[in-house]
Amino acid sequence: MTPDLLQDGAERSQRLASRQALGATESGGRDAAYGRVLRSRTDIDVSHGRILYLDNVSVSFDGFKAINKLSLDMAPGELRCIIGPNGAGKTTMMDIITGKTRPDEGSVFFGSTINLLSHKEPEIAQLGIGRKFQKPTVFEQLSVFENLELALKTPKGVKASMFFKLNGVQRDRLAEVLHTIDLTAHAARPAGLLSHGQKQWLEIGMLLMQEPQLLLLDEPVAGMTDHETERTAELFLSLKGKHSLMVVEHDMSFVRAIASTVTVLCEGSVLAQGTLDELQADERVIEVYLGR
Ligand code: ADP
Ligand code: MG
Repeated sequence: MTPDLLQDGAERSQRLASRQALGATESGGRDAAYGRVLRSRTDIDVSHGRILYLDNVSVSFDGFKAINKLSLDMAPGELRCIIGPNGAGKTTMMDIITGKTRPDEGSVFFGSTINLLSHKEPEIAQLGIGRKFQKPTVFEQLSVFENLELALKTPKGVKASMFFKLNGVQRDRLAEVLHTIDLTAHAARPAGLLSHGQKQWLEIGMLLMQEPQLLLLDEPVAGMTDHETERTAELFLSLKGKHSLMVVEHDMSFVRAIASTVTVLCEGSVLAQGTLDELQADERVIEVYLGR
């Protein structure tokens, strides 16, 4: 382990904390946290048919309403696409769901009983909401396998993780994730040698190691080749049902390939919602977004 790598680890610890909060519990500690890795998160109450529920949410930045009375919900296992012009509030909505930004008003629930507004960012990750940021943030010097292994470790940092050993169940999970993200043949390669698309899949794999119920993906195919974009569509379709996915994307052929319901965000609230065909025939949507 080089000092460089430790430095690298320190710099990224905040990002890691939000996506690998498994060790972050006040009670239970390390072993209990690892024990939770493969349990099914049955404690999210989806009996009302909703995995995520936002009601009348608003947030202002210096008097500007980035999110304006936003209401939206998602069914468990759903793959929802969010589209809309730049500045519509798509990323801010994800910031609110993940606890990075506090809304001024409104409610945000995970299932019907977990009030996300009463939880901090690492707790929300731990509850089973994984977020993929736009830029891949894998550890380039580590192998694909080691990156996935790291996703199970505590946010205390790379140093503490050096003494970590996978148990059998975790090893099986890692093999399954490698297969899901189509990187089995690249497991031993340093992540830095992967293509941009493969790095994005690796980062999604790191999220999957924690078995999130809900995955938030912000512009996941930006910068990918056409082939990588198609593979990503297959990947997302394979995750649907097992996980709920909220995907912000501008690439309409990608959206067409994966989405059943698409939500159009504009000026911080929902402008329209429906199938992509319905939206493409909607004058308001054409005007603000699709018709440009
Ligand atoms: P989108 O992701 O749909 O392009 P954003 O959610 O990034 O839009 O931004 C919505 C609006 O809120 C933009 O006008 C942006 O400049 C503003 N905004 C977002 N985050 C902040 C922040 N932390 N401070 C000030 N303004 C912000
Ligand atoms: Mg954005």
